Amino acid sequence: MIAGIETGGTKIVCGVADRENLTEPTSIRRFPTTTPEETLGRIADFLAEVGPVEAVGIASFGPVDADPASPHYGFVTSTPKPGWKDTDVLSAVRAAANAPAAFVSDVTGAAIGESRAGAGRGARNVGYATIGTGVGVGLVVDGHPLIGNGWPELGHLLVRRHPADRFEGHCPYHGDCLEGLTAGPAVLARWGVDASSFPADQKDEAFDILAYYIAQLAWTTVLTLGLDRLVLGGGVMLAPGLLERTWPALTAIAGGYGPPQVATGDPRELLVTPGLEGKSGLVGALSLAADLVA
Ligand code: ADP
Ligand code: ZN
Repeated sequence: MIAGIETGGTKIVCGVADRENLTEPTSIRRFPTTTPEETLGRIADFLAEVGPVEAVGIASFGPVDADPASPHYGFVTSTPKPGWKDTDVLSAVRAAANAPAAFVSDVTGAAIGESRAGAGRGARNVGYATIGTGVGVGLVVDGHPLIGNGWPELGHLLVRRHPADRFEGHCPYHGDCLEGLTAGPAVLARWGVDASSFPADQKDEAFDILAYYIAQLAWTTVLTLGLDRLVLGGGVMLAPGLLERTWPALTAIAGGYGPPQVATGDPRELLVTPGLEGKSGLVGALSLAADLVA
């Protein structure tokens, strides 16, 4: 039996699974993310109650240090979340489990989960992007998560502005980076409603603007990594019809260039919704654990 732990900025999800059956975790427990002491204590309680595990995988909110060669591997680093700055999550979990443990960012975990057992199955190079409270991207190339030097950080990608978009952007660092233009708080600040609640006369232009930026993320990852699937998750992508708008937006940006799915106008198999419905990160954490004992 292996354990997976997904630590989000607002809630924690823990579960265990058989190595043969990663997509059906059991003993699932959820609780809110509070102080590091209390939260790591509740994770330790969970691990004590489920009994001995062979390994634990962790997919954590960030920013994180996910480089196994770094002295701070397994730390949450510069987060503004009170009390969590420079917290050694990996050591605490490893000690509680008394078993080997591995650590990635939440979106890298989701990318691993989707790549191995979800909407990324059958694709060679898979990305998982969340367009939610923030924008984050995890990348799996040839089955391996890409990690290094604080990377990937594509949420802060600089994008070409949509000509109709006058919004200054909402990122505290860059203003109008991808996150500053498309994350949930940016949508609310710009339009006063979330992306599922646009009035009819506003929806078309708002979707056009959002799809233009999200398609640029797809374009960049296709060009740099030869991505053949980008799973688009997070609250903003729940807006009905938004995903469908990103397909023609990508084709328009490509201008006939690029791999066939992109250039000839059928990116429906490239840009997809998550296959693991809220479990992408947990399943990714479980697959990381499974790799430790394989
Ligand atoms: P988090 O990123 O914190 O894990 P979510 O992915 O749910 O959480 O993202 C939350 C953001 O997504 C909020 O800013 C919210 O406005 C937006 N959001 C949540 N649900 C929806 C929805 N159904 N339609 C459009 N926007 C949504
Ligand atoms: Zn930014």
